[in-house]
Amino acid sequence: MAETDSQIDQKSPDSGAVLRSIDAAIDENADWLQQWHRAIICGAEPDQRVISEYAQFLSRFGSWLDLNRDQGLLDQAAFRELGRTHEDMHEFGRFLALKSAEGKRIPAVEYDAFSEKVQKFNEQARRIREAFRRALSELDPLTGLHNRQIMMTSLERERERAVRTGAPCSLVLADIDHFKSVNDTYGHAAGDFVLRTVAGRLLANLRPYDEIFRYGGEEFLVVLPGAQKSAASEVVERLRLSLSEAPVVLSDNTSLPLTASFGICLIREDTALKQTIEHADRALYVAKNGGRNQLVFWSEEVGRASC
Ligand code: GH3
Ligand code: MG
Ligand code: MG
Repeated sequence: MAETDSQIDQKSPDSGAVLRSIDAAIDENADWLQQWHRAIICGAEPDQRVISEYAQFLSRFGSWLDLNRDQGLLDQAAFRELGRTHEDMHEFGRFLALKSAEGKRIPAVEYDAFSEKVQKFNEQARRIREAFRRALSELDPLTGLHNRQIMMTSLERERERAVRTGAPCSLVLADIDHFKSVNDTYGHAAGDFVLRTVAGRLLANLRPYDEIFRYGGEEFLVVLPGAQKSAASEVVERLRLSLSEAPVVLSDNTSLPLTASFGICLIREDTALKQTIEHADRALYVAKNGGRNQLVFWSEEVGRASC
C-alpha cells in the first residue's frame, strides 16, 4: 500500500494503516503542542493549526479520522472517543491561544486542564495502538488468517472445551497439491495470489464457529468444534470441492486447476495436541500418496501406512 509522507493513509484503512496513522498522530500531536507553546510562551504569531476554528481538521489525523469515521475498522466506540478527545483538546488549545493573543494571562488551572487533555489524547491513542498491534501480530499478512503464533492458544482452548463438555472436535490439516509448480511456472506473485484465493475459499466454506490458521507455506489448519467423523467429512468435503470445482484465474486470464489434500484427526482427551497434529499430518501424507485431492481420517491403519 502506498504511504503518504506523513504515513497517514487517506484510503480506507486496514489494521496496518491504522497502526501507522496512530503512530503519525502521536508525532503530529507533539509537533502541534510545540507550536502551541511557541505561540503562548514567545508571543509568536499563532499558527493556523492552533487558532483556526477548524484546527482539529487541519491536523492530518483529524481529517483522516473524519474521512474514515464510518469505515469498518474506525466505526467503533474507541475511535469515536479518541475523536472527541482530539476535538476537545484542539478546542481548548485554541481557546487558550486566542486568550493569550489578546494579551490575557492563562491561569494555571486552565493550563493544567489543557495538559490533562493532551495527556488523555496520547494515552487513548497509545491504548488503541497497542490493541491494533496485538491484533496484527496474530494475523498472517498474506492471507489475513490467524497465524501459527496464536494457533496453539486457540487449540488448547478448544481441546479444554471438548474435554469439559464431552463434545467432539476435529482437527484438519489441508495442503495445496503441487503448489510448488505454480511458483515455478507462473512466479511467486501468482503463487501468493493462489494462496490468498485458497484462504478465501476455505474461510467462506467453514461454519461460523470453526477456526482456520495458516499453518505453514501452503498448509492450513482447521478446527471443527462439535464435529465427529461424519460432520467433519461433510465440512471437509465442502472445502475440497470449493477448491477443485473452479480454477484460479490469474490476471492474464490463465486458469489454474486447484486441488488440496486433507488429513483429519479427532481431538481427544488422552492425546496431546502435538500428537493430534502429527496424526492429522500422517493422514495427510496418506491422502497425498493416495493420489491427492482427497481426505483421509487418522486411524491405526493410517499410522502403519504412513510409516
Ligand atoms: P504436494 O502436492 O506434495 O504438497 O506438493 P507441493 O508442490 O504443494 O509441495 P512442496 O512442499 O514441494 O512445495 C510447497 C511450496 O510452497 C514451496 C514453497 O516455495 C511454496 N511456498 C511456501 N510459502 C509460500 C508463500 O508464502 N508464497 C508463495 N508464492 N509460495 C510459497
Ligand atoms: Mg506442504
Ligand atoms: Mg503442497
